[in-house]
Amino acid sequence: MDIQTIGIVGAGQMGNGIAHVMALAGYRVLLTDVSQDALDNALAIIRKNLDRQVSREKIGQSDKDAALDRMTTTLKLSDLGRSDLVIEAATERETVKQAIFEDLLPHLKQDTILTSNTSSISITRLASRTDRPEKFMGFHFMNPVPVMSLVELIRGIATSKETYDSCLKVVESLGKTAASAEDFPGFIVNRILMPMINEAVYTLYEGVGSVLSIDQSMKLGANHPMGPLELADFIGLDTCLAIMNVLHDGLADTKYRPCPLLTKYVEAGWLGRKSGRGFYDYRGDEPVPTR
Ligand code: NAD
Repeated sequence: MDIQTIGIVGAGQMGNGIAHVMALAGYRVLLTDVSQDALDNALAIIRKNLDRQVSREKIGQSDKDAALDRMTTTLKLSDLGRSDLVIEAATERETVKQAIFEDLLPHLKQDTILTSNTSSISITRLASRTDRPEKFMGFHFMNPVPVMSLVELIRGIATSKETYDSCLKVVESLGKTAASAEDFPGFIVNRILMPMINEAVYTLYEGVGSVLSIDQSMKLGANHPMGPLELADFIGLDTCLAIMNVLHDGLADTKYRPCPLLTKYVEAGWLGRKSGRGFYDYRGDEPVPTR
């Protein structure tokens, strides 16, 4: 299928990044959200990030202008009806996503491909509640979208080869690389990454190492660009805990049990960078370990 217009639902952290890369690659982008503030904020962030790419000479001023020209924001979900591909990137709650698909379906063309950027919800289950399980799949970007070169493409049990191939072409046109994943909890990246982060928290919890020694060990000893606790703060500790719970429930194996210390940080509201404090305290000039 020839994809030219891409609808994006949700203009948060991921939605604005997806809109940015799609418009820059030449697609018409229709970006929607329930909140006008979120849409205004998304456009401001996209402009700022495009400006940064211009100043670093990664793109020209005309590329930036053309990308912004190809982008339309709207509060009306039904405006996405003319999309060839829809990427849902709204809040990670199954009821929210299900309501979006229900409201959107009557407005879609018959051949529109529907996808979700969900990190943890079953693609097969989301697809089963639509009229087009064979045209439904997971389109999972990494954060920050303009920087990270991987996209996981997740097949639900019913996803057709044509749907997969169309999405693969879109990923390649962005200059990104697709990893094909089957629809099981955590897909590939989070299935491997989150247990490592959780194990780092256990290592801290059991007093094997301090925050600094754990992060230093993995940076200097395993050549990771960021330590696991630093990375957990970047992702958000609530998100890490939610994904561990999905692995634990979905795979029914105690090896995925979330570390009680991770739960405690989340209960304290110490969610990482976004709340000013997590395994590090970000409220001063330099991050300071909290343990
Ligand atoms: P976010 O909270 O930054 O943004 C979510 C946006 O969805 C908000 O602007 C909210 O107003 C909007 N929204 C809520 N209900 C809506 C509705 N009914 N219609 C339209 N918009 C609605 O969240 P995010 O971090 O951008 O995550 C979005 C999705 O991407 C989630 O499914 C998440 O699992 C996934 N994801 C997140 C990351 C990450 O690192 N943050 C990485 C990969 C995938």
